[in-house]
Amino acid sequence: MKVGFIGLGAMGRPMAKRLRAAGLELAVFDLVTAAVEEMAALGAVPKATPAQVAEGADIVCTSLPNSAILKNVILGEDGVLKTLKPGALVVDLSSVEPQVSRQLAGAAKEKGAAMIDAPVSGGVSGAEKGALTIMVGGTAAELAQAEPVLQHLGKKIYHVGDSGSGQAIKLVNNLLLGANMAAAAEALTLGSKLGLKPETMLDIISQSSGSSYALTAKAANFIFKGEFAPGFAVDLQYKDLGLAISTAQSMSVPLPMGTLAQQIYEIARAKGQGREDISSVIKFYEELAKTEVRS
Ligand code: NAD
Repeated sequence: MKVGFIGLGAMGRPMAKRLRAAGLELAVFDLVTAAVEEMAALGAVPKATPAQVAEGADIVCTSLPNSAILKNVILGEDGVLKTLKPGALVVDLSSVEPQVSRQLAGAAKEKGAAMIDAPVSGGVSGAEKGALTIMVGGTAAELAQAEPVLQHLGKKIYHVGDSGSGQAIKLVNNLLLGANMAAAAEALTLGSKLGLKPETMLDIISQSSGSSYALTAKAANFIFKGEFAPGFAVDLQYKDLGLAISTAQSMSVPLPMGTLAQQIYEIARAKGQGREDISSVIKFYEELAKTEVRS
């Protein structure tokens, strides 16, 4: 089976590495040469455009930052659909608007090919271990076609429904993650100001009703060490909250918590932390409270 992989970032690179390690024939493309070279050293074939990646491929995976870039990679001058063969499948692992997934799936169909939305959850460590949760929007037959790739990437693969429905559940999940991370940062800062040790807070809250993935995945590994390399970047969380907010606006659904949370990430971006992990929002709280939550 010939597989293409476009977008070798924090998530795409470990996923592509797993496909290579499983022995799949892999063609790759990214704007960052170092990422492509790292994959080439593992036996992947570097290509100069998305169209070249798609040429002859049975499955093309994409893991890209946002809708505009994804659209360009799929529909652009040197895009995937220029060369994708009839019967081939695009598996989009990015987080984008549901309506963008539906539009691109429609364009793929016109070429006699198909495209599913398969956004993921579980972070970089989940991608490295092949333990992601994958939320698929598309037909059952398209999901079955994607299995030879998805089985190496995820432990829990859900068929959510038609095209776009994988993105719908993903934006709901990430609305919650964004709000939970900001809330955990706020609460830990207050605890620190009250003289509580970081480890004490984590030990007890992780076994109590205030626990969340944001707390258990981010406290000890990022916040307590003061190390904020992503992980999941502030810019991407900001984008995901935007996906939820704009989708909710289009249906007149109020999102007061999500909108406030987005402003917390806007503050972090304004402070130059866009490429840092989402847990770095704690720095804003720490500055205001004049305390630090560090081991
Ligand atoms: P990233 O910014 O680390 O990686 C994106 C990659 O795409 C980069 O290597 C970049 O060079 C490449 N790229 C950008 N424009 C390109 C183009 N035109 N052609 C080819 N490559 C291009 O982002 P990431 O963290 O890997 O996230 C990728 C997607 O997965 C995003 O949609 C994100 O929301 C989602 N996601 C991320 C995480 C996480 O924990 N990082 C978790 C779940 C989902």
